[in-house]
Amino acid sequence: MYDVIVIGAGAAGLMAAGTAAMSGRQVLLIEKMEKAGRKIRITGKGRCNLTNARPAEEFIEKVRTNQEFFSVAFAEFNNRATIRFFERIGVKLDIERGERVFPHSGKAWDIANALVDFCEDKGVKIVYKTCVTAIETMNGKVTGVRYRNARGFERREEASHVIVATGGVSYPSTGSTGDGYDFAASVGHNIEPVRPSLTPLVTSHPQKEYLNGLLLKNVGAKLYIDNELRQEEFGELGFSERGIEGAVALRLSRDVVDAIIDERKVKIVVDLKPALDEETLLARIEREIAEMSPSEFFAELLRKLVPKQLVVPLAKEVDFHSKTYVSKLTEAEKLRLVKILKGMVFPIVDYAPFQYAIVTAGGVDCSEVNRYTMQSERVEGLYFAGEVLDIDANTGGYNMQIAFSTGRLAGQLKK
Ligand SMILES: Cc1cc2nc3c(=O)[nH]c(=O)nc-3n(C[C@H](O)[C@H](O)[C@H](O)COP(=O)(O)OP(=O)(O)OC[C@H]3O[C@@H](n4cnc5c(N)ncnc54)[C@H](O)[C@@H]3O)c2cc1C
Repeated sequence: MYDVIVIGAGAAGLMAAGTAAMSGRQVLLIEKMEKAGRKIRITGKGRCNLTNARPAEEFIEKVRTNQEFFSVAFAEFNNRATIRFFERIGVKLDIERGERVFPHSGKAWDIANALVDFCEDKGVKIVYKTCVTAIETMNGKVTGVRYRNARGFERREEASHVIVATGGVSYPSTGSTGDGYDFAASVGHNIEPVRPSLTPLVTSHPQKEYLNGLLLKNVGAKLYIDNELRQEEFGELGFSERGIEGAVALRLSRDVVDAIIDERKVKIVVDLKPALDEETLLARIEREIAEMSPSEFFAELLRKLVPKQLVVPLAKEVDFHSKTYVSKLTEAEKLRLVKILKGMVFPIVDYAPFQYAIVTAGGVDCSEVNRYTMQSERVEGLYFAGEVLDIDANTGGYNMQIAFSTGRLAGQLKK
């Protein structure tokens, strides 16, 4: 019999299992995939942005749901502690732009492998290709789990503590298929509705097919919900067949998804020239035209102002033929171009599904979990850690930190 069974060898489960074993407990870590940390290995475009080095108050502001609940786990094991932890277990780290922390090697695998080594060094037994199918309880206490082993046979294992670290439902190919929600619900926990977050946004912009593959750097973006300005961002926007991506779109997506679910009108207004006000931009356009030959086309003027791939869609947007002579542009037309460069409107009609979402919003209702221990308020000995909980944050290393902080606290098995 084990003291603790941890379900799921992701960031939260590995941290929880190793932490529990540090205090001499017998720990079994059950993972349904063939290796640990499948998701960690693809984070940060394969580089793993494992945390963010911002000061605590700024860090907590980036957590979108259940900030207060999370702040206890964060105080217990914060970003500084995480950095020290990885350096102690032999992973050299770098702090990059935006205080984002990455392994010096640039390899997310190093984070996953270091966590597995940490668990094994502390004596955690890890079993792979083994899927937990149910949590067993008796008289309000956890007694163990049922699982399907690698040969497909149902078995059970007893333990006085079970930590559910099964992740959310985003990128299900990594093993995160929402099993933890069923386990929690089966013992009476409420599950806050789950929906994709940090996910591409689908636009109905009539020229969207021209934009696939385009990456816009240093643009401004304003999110309007029912014509009310809700959020402003600055940075990168990308376009793909999945929708509008890039850090800016992902940061906006959290509110966009909820607004779309509520059937509200959503648009993103993109400022392609955020460094110039309208007047300066008009002067720049006039300067460009003055330097051009009168027989050059409008498309050639646009080429001087925006990336090549934007020329055709922008010409259609301003509704001038791209072969209009620049010399023929009226003042009103130049002003119209300025307005569109400063505010290209992308109506948002949908969002990409869980398969493309970086995280899952929603999950195990935090009001039924003790924030000082991560223990269930419904079942003694049952703990939760990581994305399975209703906590999610912006991009920038915050979501991994949520997994590490809550995993660390759960692994202490405080009463
Ligand atoms: C493409 C991508 C890039 C990302 N990049 C970043 C980034 O750079 N920085 C950042 O902070 N966040 C990033 N995230 C988010 C971050 O990876 C997650 O928030 C974090 O990994 C969640 O950790 P977790 O341990 O809670 O869950 P998961 O990593 O999802 O782990 C859950 C584990 O439980 C296992 N499991 C599930 N059910 C069972 C079961 N029934 N039996 C046994 N095992 C089970 C799964 O196989 C899985 O291994 C990224 C996410 C994606 C998809």
